[in-house]
Formats: sequence, C-alpha cells, structure tokens
Amino acid sequence: MELLPSRFAAALPGDPSPDPHPRVVRGALWSAVAPTPVAAPRLLALSEPMAGALGFDAAETASPEFLALFSGNRLPPGLRPLATNYGGHQFGHWAGQLGDGRAILLGERRDREGRHWELQLKGAGPTPYSRQADGRAVLRSSLREFVASEAMHALGVPTTRALCLVASGEAVVRDLLYDGHPRPEPGAIVCRVAPSFLRFGHCELPASRGETALLVALVDHVIATHFPQFDGPHARGDWFSEVARRTGVLMAHWMRVGFVHGVMNTDNLSLLGLTLDYGPFGFLDDVDPAWTPNTTDLPGRRYCYAAQPAVAHWNLSALASALSALFPDDAPLKAGLEAYVEAFHAAQAQAWAGKLGLETWRAEDAALVSALFAALEAIEADFTGFFRRLGDLVGTPGALEAAVADPPAAFAAVLYDPTKAGREAPRLADWLAAYAARLATDPQPPARRQARMAAANPCYVPRNWLLQQAIEAAEQGDLSELRALMAVLEQPYTPQPGAERFAARRPDWARDRPGCSALSCSS
Ligand code: AMP
Ligand code: MG
Repeated sequence: MELLPSRFAAALPGDPSPDPHPRVVRGALWSAVAPTPVAAPRLLALSEPMAGALGFDAAETASPEFLALFSGNRLPPGLRPLATNYGGHQFGHWAGQLGDGRAILLGERRDREGRHWELQLKGAGPTPYSRQADGRAVLRSSLREFVASEAMHALGVPTTRALCLVASGEAVVRDLLYDGHPRPEPGAIVCRVAPSFLRFGHCELPASRGETALLVALVDHVIATHFPQFDGPHARGDWFSEVARRTGVLMAHWMRVGFVHGVMNTDNLSLLGLTLDYGPFGFLDDVDPAWTPNTTDLPGRRYCYAAQPAVAHWNLSALASALSALFPDDAPLKAGLEAYVEAFHAAQAQAWAGKLGLETWRAEDAALVSALFAALEAIEADFTGFFRRLGDLVGTPGALEAAVADPPAAFAAVLYDPTKAGREAPRLADWLAAYAARLATDPQPPARRQARMAAANPCYVPRNWLLQQAIEAAEQGDLSELRALMAVLEQPYTPQPGAERFAARRPDWARDRPGCSALSCSS
C-alpha cells in the first residue's frame, strides 16, 4: 500500500501553522492536515481499471489496510497529507480564498509506465480551508463523482479519475432542496486520482494578493512537473497556450457527449485540461442548448450547455490576468487565448465530423449542425439516443431515405413528445434530406461511416436519473444497480445485450424529480 510523498509539497512553500481550523492562509500553497477518522468504513465500489493502472492487486484492494487508508482512518507511516490553497471566480465574481475544504491529498503513486498519480480523498474531514462547512460529503454526491469520473474516462474525455467509494458509516446533515429542511444522510468518501488537481484558482489566489514570488514558483513547478516539454525563455507563454489548447479540446469533448458541468467557476477548471469537480453536472436528455443541471444556475443559465465554450474562454481570460505579472509583454497571453479559440474550433469540427460520420469537414457544415440543434430542440429529441440512431440508419441501406419520409417513425424511441413529433416532423425531414445530400458528397462505405459515428456517439452516458436509481438503491444497502451501471459505462460505445434500459431516453417519472434531471449544489 505504498504511497510516495507529494512532489507539490516538497517543491512549494507550505503553511507554517499546524492549526487545522478554518482560517486565511497567506504566503503558502498548502497546509498539512490529516483526515478525520470515520466510524464504520465500508468499501462500496472500486474502479478495477484504475486500481489496475495504479498497480493495486485484488488481494490489496480487499485488505483491511486498503479500507483503512482510503477511509482516512489509518495512514502509512511517513505520509504527510495536505490540503491546497486556491481562490476563484464563482459565477463571475471574485470569491477570495477557497482551497481544499474537503479534499485531502494523501500522496502519489507511480504506475507501470512511471507516471505519477496524486491520490486525494474527498469528504475526509475539515481542513484549514473548510470555512463554515464540515469537510464531509454525502453518499449521493460521492457516488455521482465516482461513477462519472470513470465513465468520462471511458468516453474518451479528459478527466480526473476515481479509485474507490467508501461509506463512512456516519451521517452527514444536508438541506437537499435548500428549503430549510436539513436531514441526516449517509456520508461517503471518494478517492480521486489525477496527475494533479491544480486549478486556475491556484494561480489566481497568489496573484490577487500580490504574492508574485509564490505565483512564479507555482507556475514554474507546474511546467517542470507536468509540462516538461516546455523549457527555455518562452516556456511560460508556451505553457499558457497549452493550458488553453487543452481546455479547448476539453470543451469540444463536453459538447460532443452532451456533458454540462454545471459549476464552471475558475476554481473548478483544471490547469491540466481535465474535467474536474463533479457536482450538479448532467448529460443532455432532450436537446436544449439552454439547459443547466444546476438549480443554483437558474435563471441566469451562465453554465448551460451552449454557454460552456464561451465560459471556458472567460475563465482563461481570468487566468491570463492572474498570470500578467509574469509577462512583461502580454502578447503570449493574447496568443494563448487565441490558441483556445483555434483549438476549440478544430476539435469541435473533428468531433462533429465524427458525430455526423463525415470524412472531411467543410466550413459550411457548421450550419448543418446549427440547423440540427434547432430541429432536435423543436421536436424534443434525446441527444444521446438521436445520434446513435442516426448512425444505425446511415449504416442500413435505404433507412435514411425512409427516415426522411417519416421521421417520427424512424426516431420514435428517442423522441419525448408525440405532439411535437407530429408538428415538427417536416423540420426534421428537411434536415435529414439536407444531411443525405451532404453525405452524397462525402462518399464512404456505409459500414465505415456507421463505425465512425459509433466511435463518436456513445450509447451509454451516466444520465442523472440512472445515477439517482443507483443512489437510492445504495442508500438502502443494495449495490447491484451501481455495479450494473458501472459495468455498462466501462464500454460506452458498445451496445450491450440486456443493457437497453441504460440507453433509454429519460422516463417521464424522472423529468422533474430532484436529482433525476436538475440538482442543487447540496453535496
Ligand atoms: P464546490 O462547489 O464543490 O466546487 O466547492 C467550492 C468550495 O467550497 C471549495 O473550496 C470546497 O472545498 C468548499 N466546500 C464545498 N463543500 C464543502 C464541505 N462540505 N466542507 C468544506 N468545504 C466545502
Ligand atoms: Mg470545486
């Protein structure tokens, strides 16, 4: 169960005070803090792919030491866990010091390829950054983060990972609906795994305080550790452009799979271009570009599906201003922001060429995508289901032509509202005809086109109502739903016999139920 000490702590200034109480921490990027032990830990779920990658064998993951470590109850000698210090812009406003209020970095582990992974417990008790909160997490939000992290990885989306989900055996009090009715809920701890959990906000906090030397040390450490390809006088500018480029690629992935993060504050954006901090996230069910899964984001919809690429640019601008003290001339920062736009558009074109099965992408295809969104929104089609169905039609001779003649029949399983299906059928028919005409200019064997589409359009994504079913069963002690969901999500692009219900459009009962579509931030 060997863990290595964190390289972050070894290289960068820490808080001289051992005081675990919430407070303002200046001049330091981290504070030493131990997890608070829990009453009755139980391993609820393990990611076997992640455990394998980290070199934990089955005997180890089943051992009492594993549970003791990943519940925070007993650490190997010599390990000095810590919480990191960061700030951030929340909903467009500077929020000051935030920090790891309930995340504790245990240490690192080297995988077979020699890569380093940080292991972090989320929900392991208070830290100097907990502010008014308890440092804990409820089972429902922990299960969501655990499943979604591994599902996004399997979807090919850059993300932090998760090793295991542990029930604490303790109650955590939360007001789920924010309506003045707090109640005890089962608590849990997730072990998250990533090369680094550093956020834009890690740079913003020292910059906001004029702690330039600390900021320089941080940036140079990030470059040396995570971007060693950048060296020499232009390293910092090249690094910023790379952060921007990765963020652009990430946004194109989110748009491709219909993922809506829900809380794209700068403290939740990764300096490594990873999806980070799964809270009130969601996957589009019915196509609605203005949809946000986060009830706190209503009515502004700052973080809705369609807004995400622009918000990422806004966040990168905030990061650029935080970094301005490092750049006597702001040209490299401007170039980085341009690199974002370029990388996003290139990745978006590639993603949509895949979703539509096009071998080559033309500038005018963007209009085809906009028209499709308008048609799918009007007819109320399921995002994930529609593209998968479209790929099947394209791979079957004559099927696309039949769909043009009768879209509601061809897409019956992925439409939500029969009235809209009837009324808006001509609109979808027009789009399908335009699409068929476009395909005629992009010759490919039907099977190849279908395969291309099947690699870009998943059958299975962790929809909120599926997660909610797994949560409700797990809260009753039944882990079968969680296990079934995880197994299906390991191969999200491969249709699996017997797994049809995991690919289905959202059932009517789930439309307005808390947790099944929209969620509060209570976690
Ligand atoms: P989030 O909305 O989860 O991204 O969290 C925003 C900030 O609040 C971060 O600094 C978190 O560490 C902190 N936070 C959220 N929930 C808790 C909690 N239960 N205990 C302590 N800090 C928390
Ligand atoms: Mg966060």
